[in-house]
Amino acid sequence: MRTRHTPYSVQKPRKLFSYFASICLAATASSPSNAQDAPSPKFHINSQRLQGTLEKLSEFGKNPEGGVTRLAFSETDMAAREYVIGLMKQAGLQVRVDPAGNIFGMRAGSEKLPILLTGSHIDSVLHGGNYDGDLGSMAAIELIRTLNDLNVKTRHPLEVVIWTNEEGNHFGLTTMGSAVAVGQLGPEILDRKDDQGLTLADWLRRYGQDPTHLTDARIPRGSISAIVELHIEQGPNLEENKIPIGIVQGIVGLKRWMCTVSGFANHAGTTPMNRRKDALAAASKDILAVREVVRAEDGRQVGTVGFVKVEPGAVNVIPGRVQFPIELRDLDTAKIDRMWQHIQERLKQTDTEENVETSCTQFDDAQPASADPTVKSAIADAAKSLGLATMDLPSGATQDAQNISRIAPMGMIFVPSHNGISHSPKEFTSWQDCGNGAEVLYRTILLLDH
Ligand SMILES: [Zn+2]
Repeated sequence: MRTRHTPYSVQKPRKLFSYFASICLAATASSPSNAQDAPSPKFHINSQRLQGTLEKLSEFGKNPEGGVTRLAFSETDMAAREYVIGLMKQAGLQVRVDPAGNIFGMRAGSEKLPILLTGSHIDSVLHGGNYDGDLGSMAAIELIRTLNDLNVKTRHPLEVVIWTNEEGNHFGLTTMGSAVAVGQLGPEILDRKDDQGLTLADWLRRYGQDPTHLTDARIPRGSISAIVELHIEQGPNLEENKIPIGIVQGIVGLKRWMCTVSGFANHAGTTPMNRRKDALAAASKDILAVREVVRAEDGRQVGTVGFVKVEPGAVNVIPGRVQFPIELRDLDTAKIDRMWQHIQERLKQTDTEENVETSCTQFDDAQPASADPTVKSAIADAAKSLGLATMDLPSGATQDAQNISRIAPMGMIFVPSHNGISHSPKEFTSWQDCGNGAEVLYRTILLLDH
């Protein structure tokens, strides 16, 4: 599952080095003459400029304890979007906002080809961090500025995208903008109301959009040649293994079930221990069984019970009914199904032991999205050309790229998250790692264009 690439020494990518060397030579007269023989660590992107835009973006919705709260469809989000649109215009991009609020900035290509798309999101969760989404968004703009500085023309048109409401905290619509773009969500979402009593349609109007045209945000199949997104890992694997670049194999699928354990609520003082039907004691066994089953397999699959609801929930009553969800995630649907099979056997066993009855109903099923082999190998070659080690890993988090993979080849670049922390003010990725990721993104886009 894990691949480590040794620093570059094979034949095929020689072409690649000449390619980047030629860009370097075009940009700087003082490039060493042996640039074609050794990996060039030279950065094209301007790490400091990238840091500057990330720092500026972190001002929008800044929290006293660090990090940001920049929910999509909020005043802070609107201000941040204005900032980003300004950056795009400064970089010479032709900016448009689609009816779902997704921001696009186009840089023309020299040939009539489908678009190479890159970007991320700038909305955050409540008390979120400064890197989730922000890095991929600012790196996409940095990429354009770099191409302008180095006077590089691409064959494909390049487009920077900032997706709306990726976190989905507002209106409970995760990856909203990209889901609308692929037709997975439609006008049925417009009447949803938030706690201020405003509908999604109201907010889209505030964003200058006509919600009746929501379906115009759909991106036609064939119009995107590839999408590449740079993102923080949001997990501990890269840092733990001291690997600067992660190549995403795919975005995991997930299945969720709601389980109800039915026992019998009775007096806690007068019911002997051997005559009880304690739904909570049974559910406790079930929850641990989920963990055991998921841990029993090799790989990076995860399984979670996120909450329990206990009824009647009194200190002196034996719990008669317990509800809890089971969530399983992995790249491989067959593995999810196999784990579910084992979990069900364990639940049956508990039912017999505890004299209760358990039933589960599935309520969520998201298919995994595989990264495209060509995009993955472009990312690998780009990292190699910089002498950066890589690791293949899945994305355990939902991503906009997952939606777009339904209509175009998709790839994602991960950079380390310190201590694997994300969705927290403690989210941190070093400037070095941010710069590495942006440079790998730059080189990947040029390789795909080539
Ligand atoms: Zn994100």
